[in-house]
Amino acid sequence: MRKDTRRWIDADKAHCWHPFTPQQAWTESEALVLVRGEGSWLWDSEGRRYLDGNSSIWTNIHGHNHPHLNAAITRQLGEIAHSSYLGFANPRASELAERLCALFPPATLERVFFSDDGSTAVECAMKMAIQFRQQSGEPERDGFIAFDQAYHGDTLGAASLGGVARFQERFRKHGLPVRFVADLDALRALPADIVATTAALVIEPLIQGVNEMRPWPAGMLRALRTWCDTHGVHLILDEVMTGFGRTGKMFACQHEDVIPDFLCLAKGLTGGYLPLAATMTTGRIYDAFLGEPDRAFYYGHSYTANPLGCAAALASLDVFEQEQTLDRLQPKIARMTALLGELKSASPRVRDIRQCGFIAGIEVDHDGAAVCLAARDHGILTRPIRDTLVLMPPLSTTEEELATAVEAIARALEARP
Ligand SMILES: *Cc1c(COP(=O)(O)O)cnc(C)c1O
Repeated sequence: MRKDTRRWIDADKAHCWHPFTPQQAWTESEALVLVRGEGSWLWDSEGRRYLDGNSSIWTNIHGHNHPHLNAAITRQLGEIAHSSYLGFANPRASELAERLCALFPPATLERVFFSDDGSTAVECAMKMAIQFRQQSGEPERDGFIAFDQAYHGDTLGAASLGGVARFQERFRKHGLPVRFVADLDALRALPADIVATTAALVIEPLIQGVNEMRPWPAGMLRALRTWCDTHGVHLILDEVMTGFGRTGKMFACQHEDVIPDFLCLAKGLTGGYLPLAATMTTGRIYDAFLGEPDRAFYYGHSYTANPLGCAAALASLDVFEQEQTLDRLQPKIARMTALLGELKSASPRVRDIRQCGFIAGIEVDHDGAAVCLAARDHGILTRPIRDTLVLMPPLSTTEEELATAVEAIARALEARP
């Protein structure tokens, strides 16, 4: 082991604390130290190369070290890294808000509130939804409806919407009261008094990510939009994972021509470069915050609309156009389906394949974590969710790289019968 690697691992063991990580086991093992990226590839501090099989926790879109994103950030850095958005505007935030709104039909989602990550994007939608009702003569509508096994982030408000017991149970009684439903039928069966006191319903559209990559039935989103309109409930779409091309279209809601009242974006917004989030909403919601000063939305973070993050996000949107990312993604999605079909026929250990666009979950019969560890030796990095291996590389991944990724997983499955 190189001297630097040793030093970084020792400092990590002595001082660092990792997310969702049993620290005892972590400090008893030897961490991989990632030092470099290029396209779909990552290098560790020992010089070994791996495919980025989960887009660095679902964030990376156009590959690492992309010249256009690098240049945009460097250019911005030469001007200013950060300035306050509280009381001031900044050029990149203005441009980005305009570009994001232009991705939707005119007069639909026309306002953008910036924050830092997926959890805050959701947190912000929740607070807007509650304050909107207070300022629209419906203060009794302060509840939320979410789906079983949903994941919407880890800050306390967003976590209240989470339906995954092992993540949220400890904090349940400390969070907001949320009504959970399993599906559309359960939603339609809710008592009228619950519906009448609901501000908003929240869902991960098309596919639940943390729930082992489970797609929703086709038509679900359309039906939800209709149900929400009928009952005067706002629809919050959490596209933190599905946004920016993952599902094959720019946004998951475009598959069913649905416009939400709130749209939460983060992870892929900056191409996976920097923490930045956006909560988009309609003119109708926004208007309720006009008028008297105390109708203002009382929410914000110090790094709101960070210019470096906005510059990266703008550059990422450029790349979508310049590289025709979405057009070029379509054959790769088909190839992913074919490769995973072959994997399932070839390996008795594969129980189920679930795919939505360029997002896939490969459910194996046991020891998902051990399979992922073995896959490292065959050159791919990813994380399982229980026994479901996640395969969602950057959208820029080539068909050849995709084949390499699936081959590595196949070999890892053979190595661990
Ligand atoms: C990752 C994720 C979040 C939370 O985003 P963070 O940036 O990790 O706070 C929220 N919702 C969904 C659907 C996610 O996948």
